[in-house]
Amino acid sequence: RDGKAEREITFAQPGSLTRVYAVASGKGGVGKSSVTVNLAAAMAADGLKVGVVDADIYGHSVPRMLGTDAVPTQVEDMIMPPTAHDVKVISIGMFTPGNAPVVWRGPMLHRALQQFLADVFWGDLDVLLLDLPPGTGDIAISVAQLMPNAEILVVTTPQQAAAEVAERAGAIAVQTHQKIVGVVENMSGLPCPHCGEMVDVFGTGGGKKVAEGLTRTTGAEVPVLGGIPIDVTLRAGSDEGKPVVLTDPDSPAGSALRDIAAQL
Ligand code: ADP
Repeated sequence: RDGKAEREITFAQPGSLTRVYAVASGKGGVGKSSVTVNLAAAMAADGLKVGVVDADIYGHSVPRMLGTDAVPTQVEDMIMPPTAHDVKVISIGMFTPGNAPVVWRGPMLHRALQQFLADVFWGDLDVLLLDLPPGTGDIAISVAQLMPNAEILVVTTPQQAAAEVAERAGAIAVQTHQKIVGVVENMSGLPCPHCGEMVDVFGTGGGKKVAEGLTRTTGAEVPVLGGIPIDVTLRAGSDEGKPVVLTDPDSPAGSALRDIAAQL
């Protein structure tokens, strides 16, 4: 919007009816994007109007997980977000040719996020999910500034080391005065395909540890919303752009994710 005043972010206006969830994690690779995409698809399948902002600018992966390679169109000076599995989605990956890396400093990240929120034609949404980058960097601060009403959903694995980092990522809410809606524990054990017994690949207790820690630091009750087992169908669905909540809703991961979506 060269030379024009910045457009308002409607989701941040008082009285906005859109629930905004920023999905955060401490470390990368814990399944934050997989959780975001599946929650979005589950809510859309339940009839809600859902949008996803891929705010993981350097590590964008949401379009692939939703199975879209669509390029957004422009109508007047608004960007039209592509739709995949009834979810409206925008990602920097849609604007970078090939698999070109994004090599930006902080202020550029802020601008991109601002545009994704204000200059994309989202229409009326019931829910907007933001897939944050891991950690407490520029984007997490920008989200807090641009959308103080965004509630934080923390994703961790059961592993104690991962939980410590996730707790720090969630604790940013104290400084930004944001609400933490809850903790999701992902990769909570692998059901043995032969005998069904759980193999605790990453240990146990990470989700509970993060929730208790954040309850202490924020002074508000932070619940564990659920645990998602390690599940080949979830991984395969992410790779194929078909969220497991749609292709195999009654699989262990699919049902756990639908149960979490129902609580949001
Ligand atoms: P993050 O966004 O935290 O970096 P991703 O969502 O990209 O993590 O997940 C990292 C990898 O782990 C992906 O290949 C994804 O398909 C896989 N994955 C995530 N959660 C599970 C799970 N519960 N079971 C099996 N694979 C998973």
